[in-house]
Order: sequence, then structure tokens, then C-alpha cells
Amino acid sequence: MPGYDEQLDRALEQTPDIQEGSERFDVPTPEVRQEGNVTVYENFQDTLDRLDREDEHVLKFLQDELGTSAHIDESGRARLTGEFGQDRIGDAVEEYTDRFVLCSECGLPDTRLEREQGALLLRCEACGAKSSTSA
Ligand SMILES: [Zn+2]
Repeated sequence: MPGYDEQLDRALEQTPDIQEGSERFDVPTPEVRQEGNVTVYENFQDTLDRLDREDEHVLKFLQDELGTSAHIDESGRARLTGEFGQDRIGDAVEEYTDRFVLCSECGLPDTRLEREQGALLLRCEACGAKSSTSA
């Protein structure tokens, strides 16, 4: 069948590259719910598990980013004073991830936070880089 291979090649070339972006570190999309004047961050624990960070550290960052007060309730959900949408909280979590989870050298999330002489350092177990964080 003349021309068949050529058509097949063209079809393959037109297939969108679905692999793209799959390497990106995925944080669960925040599930948020309004409860009066409080925003309840339902899957806060899932996010913590994924980030592998301490709840108080993440919560403090969210408070600073969103300019509000917050606490963790008995079910492990974060309760933020004020109305914040999923996007707003998602952006804050992404900012946290960039600063305190992903290595600035290699971009991998295999990192740990360490305190050294009062400074908070992000140490990468993948490439060994150590970088200071601004908090
Ligand atoms: Zn690294």
C-alpha cells in the first residue's frame, strides 16, 4: 500500500505529547469549603503528606501568604479566617513548594529542611545542594 507509512508517520507526529509536564511535582488540589467566615482546607493532611513537611510550618506560611490567622482542627483540617478560593490557596501552596520543597539546583522534591545556626536550610538528598530559605 504505497504511501501508508508516510501517512502513519504524519499521524504519529500529530499526536500531542502527553508526557509533557508529567515530571512536575504534583501537590493535591486544595479542597476548600466556606463555613461562615472561615475557609476550611479539607485535604490539608494529604497536602502535608505529599510535601513531607510539618503542619505548623506549612500553616504559618499560609497565614503569612494569605494575611490571615489559621489553626488546625481536631480532624487535621486547616481552618483559615476569611474567604479564600481554591486558586488562592493553591497558589500559596505552590509558592511554599517552590521555596521549601523543590531543590533550587536540580528541581527535585527529595529535600529536607534543616536548621543551622538559626538559619533554615533546604538540603537536597538527590544532588546534595544546600540552599538557604527566606524564612
Ligand atoms: Zn537537588
